Amino acid sequence: MTIYRGRFAPSPTGPLHFGSLVSALASWLDARAHRGTWLVRIEDIDGPRTVPGAAESILETLARFGMVADEPPVWQSRRMPLYQQEFERMQSTGLVYPCGCTRKEIADSLVHAHARHTTLAYPGTCRNGLNGKPARAWRLRVPDGDAAIVTFDDRWQGPQTQNLATEVGDFVLRRADDQWAYQLAVVVDDVDQRITHIVRGADLLDSTARQIYLQQCLGVPTPSYLHVPVVTNADGEKLSKQTGALALDASRPLVALNEAALHLGLKLSGTAALSREAFYAEAIKAWSERVKR
Ligand code: GLU
Repeated sequence: MTIYRGRFAPSPTGPLHFGSLVSALASWLDARAHRGTWLVRIEDIDGPRTVPGAAESILETLARFGMVADEPPVWQSRRMPLYQQEFERMQSTGLVYPCGCTRKEIADSLVHAHARHTTLAYPGTCRNGLNGKPARAWRLRVPDGDAAIVTFDDRWQGPQTQNLATEVGDFVLRRADDQWAYQLAVVVDDVDQRITHIVRGADLLDSTARQIYLQQCLGVPTPSYLHVPVVTNADGEKLSKQTGALALDASRPLVALNEAALHLGLKLSGTAALSREAFYAEAIKAWSERVKR
């Protein structure tokens, strides 16, 4: 039997909304379909964006919807020494360098690059030194040429390719405001929690090549990936607190769960609207038929 460890990793920037319910449900169904372990990780690393009480409210809503983690939830804000340790391990590869560029300088150079129809990636200004500027952020050098091409087979979206050199450029591991970058924290945590299967929203598809490259730099295995379609509002924007997503009505979990399953393309019978048990039994079966192992 293959070992399966999956996770739902919400950022506590507000209460659970329909878009995050869809991601939570997809990761839960995949874990249950594999008879695996399902974890929750509170991604409160971005101090300025974290809303007090939001994490507790998300956990409470998940429980009301019948999704309780198999191990105690992990909080990123309590794991800073781990990120520091792994950052130092990255530094010892010689691939990490300080960057003194301000947002404006990068934007200006990108406008220039864009005008020349070249790249929108970070142009590598500080690769060979700060030129007297103070260090602000720390970046990870990506390979040049064909070595920069990362490919992976997404279990929902199919084969994916990204050229890190031309599409992303050297990316930030430690931000100018002294916060650990999401890319670093998420990879360190997925390794530490021995995650084998990542199921999340397609808005993170674009981050996956960076995360695979980070895994390669750290010499750790790459999990399998599945990105479900994101939920958009009437204007086609991803649902989030910023685009005015409403908190879920936790008093009617079955209604929201059935809607989330419908968004995932799962065809359930009327029975699934009768009880949580019936819903999950049908949804797990429909999920197993819908996605690749
Ligand atoms: N915390 C991220 C978010 O809520 C998700 C991270 C992940 O699943 O890798 O968008």
